Amino acid sequence: MIEGVRPTPPVVTPPFVPAPLKVLFVTSECAPFAKTGGLADVAGALPKALRPLNIDVRVVMPLYAGMPWNDLEVLDGFMTVPMYWGGARSRVRVGKLPHSDVPLYGLEYNRYFDRPYLYGPPAEGYSDNLERFTFLSRGALELCKALGFFPDVIHCNDWQTALVPVYVDTVEWMQPLHAAATIYSIHNLAYQGVFDGGGTFITGLGKEHYNDRELEHFGAMNLTKAALYHSTILSTVSPTYAREIQTGAYGNGLDGVLSWRKGDLVGILNGIDTDEWNPATDKHLPAKFDAHDMAGKAACKAALQKEAGLAVRPDVPVFGIVGRLTPQKGFDVLAHALARILSWDVQMVLLGTGDADAERFFAWADAHHGDRFRAWLRFDNGRAHRIEGGADFFLMPSRFEPCGLNQMYSLRYGTLPVVRATGGLVDTVANYDEATAGGTGFMFEDLHPESLANTIGWAVSTWYDRPAHIETMRRRAMAQDFSWERAAVAYRDLYLGAYERRRGQAFK
Ligand code: ADP
Repeated sequence: MIEGVRPTPPVVTPPFVPAPLKVLFVTSECAPFAKTGGLADVAGALPKALRPLNIDVRVVMPLYAGMPWNDLEVLDGFMTVPMYWGGARSRVRVGKLPHSDVPLYGLEYNRYFDRPYLYGPPAEGYSDNLERFTFLSRGALELCKALGFFPDVIHCNDWQTALVPVYVDTVEWMQPLHAAATIYSIHNLAYQGVFDGGGTFITGLGKEHYNDRELEHFGAMNLTKAALYHSTILSTVSPTYAREIQTGAYGNGLDGVLSWRKGDLVGILNGIDTDEWNPATDKHLPAKFDAHDMAGKAACKAALQKEAGLAVRPDVPVFGIVGRLTPQKGFDVLAHALARILSWDVQMVLLGTGDADAERFFAWADAHHGDRFRAWLRFDNGRAHRIEGGADFFLMPSRFEPCGLNQMYSLRYGTLPVVRATGGLVDTVANYDEATAGGTGFMFEDLHPESLANTIGWAVSTWYDRPAHIETMRRRAMAQDFSWERAAVAYRDLYLGAYERRRGQAFK
């Protein structure tokens, strides 16, 4: 090299790092912080699975009493959320979803959220729920402005967040947030956010939005209806439920709107927490097992029979039930079929809480059929695991089931589901085929005691007469993939489709 002459530096092309898609996930509950149902599990798991797909997803929810406030960092200053009565000055706290780097923002407003329940005491909502969740919906958008985080997609979940897509189209008109695509996910259409029409002013929207395309529905204000009109894309938690809710039988009055938007409505099955529900590592089980070594399952069965005070017999089929005792789950139909089912050589264990009538009935059945039926009327997560581990069959006679988790846990634990053919149960369980030993469970269509009993009878006769088929089905069931990774890929595609729809061009 000649001294003093600098060689020409090579041209450097930096590796192409695509900008992440920015997603705000708005939710009224999120596991493990605040949970009443399946939505909390989705909110706690899906964002984590989206992060590795180059999605900058952030979660926003209210800060309820009982959440670990002190583990969250308080952001400087206050955020002002426009409310009908003025500006609500809200603190924001930020943390991370456990074992992840997904930011979780908590909106702190004690007047609305420092209460013993998320939505109100059992079977009744707080009288100011419209105001409380107007605050969440409006607050989520104000948070974006305060952070300078302008999402490409805002993912809203159930009625508590249904006003977000309406605000994006109205009060944010021609503002940066107006460019965001909105996804509205239905986790359970039984809850729609119905309020007196006279309260429209509480939403901050003009009276003109109380019309039969947006907020007005059969003479009342229906927040879900407005979200169905304004959202870029709609989703729900299984493909079958997506079809069912377009019918009068399952649409809860919104089937007309949903079928009008059927081209924009997709069903994506929820995943399950495959660490928490893994028979090979489950800390709640007395013995571990997997598809290659099922000896542990026999030990779990014996332990469950003992725990239930039933005869410890490997030869008798054990049916497990875990769930809320509400009309949705169809246990009233089981009640009518129970005497016939228990006249066979079977055992059944039930874990659940819910309607007083149902609890009374199952307590009575426990007392009268104590040698083969046990009912535990409480909430007990460890026992739920032990039932999945120890039972041979798992019963879900649901009236409707948007997705359902228990049947997926059951499949993973080699506990063959006996289910009604509805919603996510159809999409996750394959009906038994006697000719080929095909399938992963047993299914019936009619919600009728006779159909239920006959199908349980079919499972029982398969157990006694074709045990090799049961083994084959078990192994097949245990090999199914219900991970959140699979669901996250489907949501990413949904987000990209929504973006393109909103902006008229693909995300780059
Ligand atoms: P849903 O969300 O409609 O109640 P899912 O099947 O989707 O029904 O999920 C129910 C969840 O709640 C499962 O994780 C189930 O194990 C749990 N669960 C319901 N009732 C009880 C109970 N009494 N004890 C323990 N876990 C329960």
